[in-house]
Amino acid sequence: MSELAYPYEAPASQALFDRAAAVTPGGVNSPVRAFRAVGGTPRFMVSGTGPYLTDADGREYVDLVCSWGPMILGHAHPEVIAAVQEAVARGTSFGTPAEGEVALAEAMVERVAPLEEVRLVSSGTEATMSAIRLARGFTRRTKVIKFAGCYHGHVDSLLAAAGSGVATFALPDTPGVTGAQASDTIVLPYNDLEAVHAAFAAHPGEIACVITEASPGNMGVVPPLPGFNQGLKDACAANGALFVSDEVMTGFRTSRAGWYGVEGVVPDLMTFGKVMGGGFPAAAFGGRADVMAHLAPAGPVYQAGTLSGNPVATAAGLAQLRLLDDAAYETVNAVSARIQSLVTEALAKEGVAHTVQTASNMFSVFFTDRPVRNYEDAKAQESFRFTAFFHSLLSNGVYLPPSSFESWFVSTAHDERAVQRIADALPAAARATAEATA
Ligand SMILES: *Cc1c(COP(=O)(O)O)cnc(C)c1O
Repeated sequence: MSELAYPYEAPASQALFDRAAAVTPGGVNSPVRAFRAVGGTPRFMVSGTGPYLTDADGREYVDLVCSWGPMILGHAHPEVIAAVQEAVARGTSFGTPAEGEVALAEAMVERVAPLEEVRLVSSGTEATMSAIRLARGFTRRTKVIKFAGCYHGHVDSLLAAAGSGVATFALPDTPGVTGAQASDTIVLPYNDLEAVHAAFAAHPGEIACVITEASPGNMGVVPPLPGFNQGLKDACAANGALFVSDEVMTGFRTSRAGWYGVEGVVPDLMTFGKVMGGGFPAAAFGGRADVMAHLAPAGPVYQAGTLSGNPVATAAGLAQLRLLDDAAYETVNAVSARIQSLVTEALAKEGVAHTVQTASNMFSVFFTDRPVRNYEDAKAQESFRFTAFFHSLLSNGVYLPPSSFESWFVSTAHDERAVQRIADALPAAARATAEATA
């Protein structure tokens, strides 16, 4: 179906996609990879170096996804690869404690002041699921506040995103999540402190925690308004609830100390993933030592993982964190700003209404001329224009996230040549965007 709508120009990827579809639902292992939002054949990548990915048809792309954030040093960074090779040669999993996990935890605690203790897990989903369990165990309360448009992995109770602009008990977003699981989740509009105060007033003594993306990047980039995160923290403190800041995307990306390093609001618990794994499955949750002390085996709240703190993953994550000094963040921020202005320039030249929103070096383009403050605003953009923009760039060797509700990511490896390739591809993409019809 979709192959008819777009130039059929990826035969090797299409053949792999057909094979994949025979053995895997929808042909992918994570839904957004399937290109359903934009149509066409998902590109199967065979290798990556620096800012580039090469697909099965041998075409090279400037990568603006960076594995959805982790590859902040670019692909196959020599020092990260060396650390991985060294670790792998010593064995891939021991099922015992090992020094690498201590070193990674120490590096994280050293960078992020509110992080007194961490527990390593294997995915961001596990991190948020465990943080919620711990918050409930610690407070002995059941309800959780989350915000529409914020993604915290596919945790059952957090897949309730209601999406109407009013405070409401969540209905599950997906079959398989029961009403009971969703009914302890209160979904509120993002950037709306009044709604948070009202929810606390309506449920005295029942709310275990508020969980929020530190700066949301899963509805496109929608940063917190000034005072929003501090307001959440204060509301939690006043009501005996925990403030859980999900830094899976922003952690060690938006600054040396993640979004905490940008804003300085101190959470009770935090979650991490993506950058800290250096491209391997490693994630974490942590925060206040008195709260973390409730976790098994120190305390009664159970949590575990066969591959948690895996020696190869921790070696990759540690190598990556060690390379992420102030100069690295300056480089990523600068290249991000360059690309943002190139995009704005190209779209403005064609008269395309758009808003570029940023959170440090994370950014995204909304096809609307109004600021986007929450999920309702994000959904009001002209997403059909993104489809045209995406496919024009793809056919000219620039790989964007295949959805208008995702952040773009860059790396220290995005050099002049890579930026020039984006600059060269943008005029045609802007023209296609201007000409797009719903
Ligand atoms: C990616 C992401 C997750 C989920 O992490 P996985 O490793 O994909 O399970 C959770 N929270 C946020 C903010 C994310 O961006």
